[in-house]
Amino acid sequence: MSFKKPTTLLREAHVGINKALGLAEPVDTRPRHTNTMSILGPGVTIAYKKRTPDNYPSAQMKTAALAGARRAQAAVAKANNILAGVIMLRQKEPAILTQTLAAHFRMPAGDLCGGALTDNTVDKPFSFSDMGKHDRRWVIEKIRKQMLHLSFHLNTGLYMIDIDPTNRTTAAGGVVDPTQADPDEEAYVIGYTSLKRGCGYRNGEIHVNFDAMKGYSANSYARVIIHEACHKYLEADDHELVSATDGKNHSAYAHDGVYASLPLTERLTNADCIAWTAISLYAGAVKMATPGNYHPDWEQS
Ligand SMILES: [Zn+2]
Repeated sequence: MSFKKPTTLLREAHVGINKALGLAEPVDTRPRHTNTMSILGPGVTIAYKKRTPDNYPSAQMKTAALAGARRAQAAVAKANNILAGVIMLRQKEPAILTQTLAAHFRMPAGDLCGGALTDNTVDKPFSFSDMGKHDRRWVIEKIRKQMLHLSFHLNTGLYMIDIDPTNRTTAAGGVVDPTQADPDEEAYVIGYTSLKRGCGYRNGEIHVNFDAMKGYSANSYARVIIHEACHKYLEADDHELVSATDGKNHSAYAHDGVYASLPLTERLTNADCIAWTAISLYAGAVKMATPGNYHPDWEQS
C-alpha cells in the first residue's frame, strides 16, 4: 500500500490555499526529498520519491528492504534472548556468544581489556561481592540492555527513508548537490547527538540507500539498519582512532584496520560493535567485515 507522505499533503494544501487566495506560493521552510510512503509489511514502512514512468523503487529494492528490515528485527530479538539467557536465567554462555565477544568486543576469556575489567571469567558463579564490579557479566548486561532497547524500537515498527543520493537535492532542510553525492553511501541518521544527551535535538529517521543495497543479503542489509538504529535509539557513536598505518583519524567500523584497537569502554557505545554482534548472534557464526574492502555485501564476500 502506497500513499502520499503527510508532509507532502500539508505542503500541497498550503500551496493550494495560497493559489486559491491569489497569493504567492509560500516559501517551503523544510523542503523534503521523499513524497511517498509505502507499507511493505506489518511494521515495515518506507518513504521515497515517487517517479514516473520508471516505477521507482523497483520490486528488487522493495524486496531487499523488506527482507533486511525483517532480518534486523529478528536479529536484535534473538540476540537479546541469548544475552538475557546468560544474564537473567544464568544459563551457560553459549559458544557463539564467547566467540562474538572475542571478535567484536575484544574480550577473550581471561583478558582484562587493558584494565577496563576486574575479572573476565566465563560462567563465573554468582557472588554478591561481584555486584557493581566491571566484570564479564557487567559487559554482557550492558550489551543486553542495548539489544533490548533496539528490539523494542525495531519490532514496534521500522521506518526507512530512501537516500536516493543521485537525485536528492535536499537533506535535513538544506540544499545538497546530487552530482557531489556518493552513490554508494549505504545509510545515515541525520543529527544523531553523539552521546550528548539533553541538547533537545530529536534524532532523525534511518536513511537507507535502496539502490546501492538492493543486492545485499538479508544479514548485510540488517547489519546496516541495526548500525543506524544504534545511532538513532542508543545515541551510539562511530568512535574514531588514529590509524597506525596512515596517522589519520578513522571511524572504528568493522571493515577498518583500527577496529581491532578500539578500547572496550568505547566498544560499548560503538555502533558497528553492537550491529555486528547482533548479526553474529543471529547467524550462530561470527560475522566480520574484511578490513580494506569498503563496499561489499560482506556476508557474501
Ligand atoms: Zn555510523
